[in-house]
Amino acid sequence: MTAADLEEFEEELETCFGTSCGFCERGCPVYQALKVRTLSMKGRNRTMLGLLKGKFDITPSVVKAAFECTLCGNCDRWCSLKNTEHTRAFREYLLKHGVEPMKEHSSLLASMKNYGNPWLQPRSARGKWLRGLDIPKAAKGNQEVLFFAGCTSAVMKPLVPSLVASAKLLKRAGVDFAVIGQDEPCCGSTLLRVGQTDAFEKLEKENFDRFKALGVKRIVTACPGCYTTLKKSAEKLGSDIAINHITQEIANLIRSGDLKVEKSSEKMTYHDPCHLGRLGGIFDEPREIVDAVADLVEMPNCRYEARCCGAGAGLQSAFPRLSRELAAKKVDEAKGTGATTLVTCCPFCETQLKTAPGINVVDLMQLLLEAIEKGEKKNTSG
Ligand code: SF4
Ligand code: SF4
Repeated sequence: MTAADLEEFEEELETCFGTSCGFCERGCPVYQALKVRTLSMKGRNRTMLGLLKGKFDITPSVVKAAFECTLCGNCDRWCSLKNTEHTRAFREYLLKHGVEPMKEHSSLLASMKNYGNPWLQPRSARGKWLRGLDIPKAAKGNQEVLFFAGCTSAVMKPLVPSLVASAKLLKRAGVDFAVIGQDEPCCGSTLLRVGQTDAFEKLEKENFDRFKALGVKRIVTACPGCYTTLKKSAEKLGSDIAINHITQEIANLIRSGDLKVEKSSEKMTYHDPCHLGRLGGIFDEPREIVDAVADLVEMPNCRYEARCCGAGAGLQSAFPRLSRELAAKKVDEAKGTGATTLVTCCPFCETQLKTAPGINVVDLMQLLLEAIEKGEKKNTSG
């Protein structure tokens, strides 16, 4: 993910203008909800081209077109152009041309600056999830496996149980890992998605220097946003640190027999978080885990075609009504499968999907840990 200026995409924008096929609109959650063409990728590409050619001025509706998008990547699925990169560059272009960050994003950015997380939580909140867990802190030069908690799950109380479940599962399976704890940095995902590329690039360099100094060879994270951000940063910076999502680790541990779970006949469906699935390429491992616990049923739009929950890229904070509407659509699709439970493995998706009533939403790691513990209890009492 090397930062590219909008001007570098001009040829792609011309291609879109010439093609105008509109395939990108089929799976775009924003376009499908609002049917406003300037908010589809086809419309947004035209707006960017008009700006570059001096045909448009920067107006409030141009700014809206840049930011009313979840960067879910569904439009890239139907098109050979790098559409989500265009949008990210568009946001950066506007900020560099004097547009103030959206007021809802300003508080996220101020929080990043003051507290190192976008959630207005003090730095001291970052390590609280570790209380009572007996997990070692990473020490300089000798920590091969680092569990990277990510700020969203670490500082948002309702999400802490899923983080704790991830760590407990790794411990149960005997994985030798450590954490940074209270001083853990942000991966920078929020900065990147709202167009603050310079600040992001400074942060990612500091982060990888720090990981290197700790002797880290593998990072395991439970947050899909951290996963794609850290993975792309590692590639860009030429780092040989492997970046894994917790579902890859846990699926391996189930396959090897280090984690054992009894399957129930309950029907559950799985929501692919955009950052894990379409943008991160991880579709099978979470399904293997759900399938080990319950009867997995798929939604009509799944894997590459999965519809975004509506939380990402600042949409939840800047366009809350639309964001909630997208969550409700997703939950309706899940209910249509006949499943009693909607499983996901992303803190943003979990929080977002819980805003729409009608189905039990659970985190995959919590689901697995509870199933293992329940099985053990049954075997002990039986
Ligand atoms: S973004 Fe791609 S799919 Fe959409 S109209 Fe342009 S060329 Fe077609
Ligand atoms: S990234 Fe997602 S929300 Fe944004 S234009 Fe593409 S499909 Fe629509």
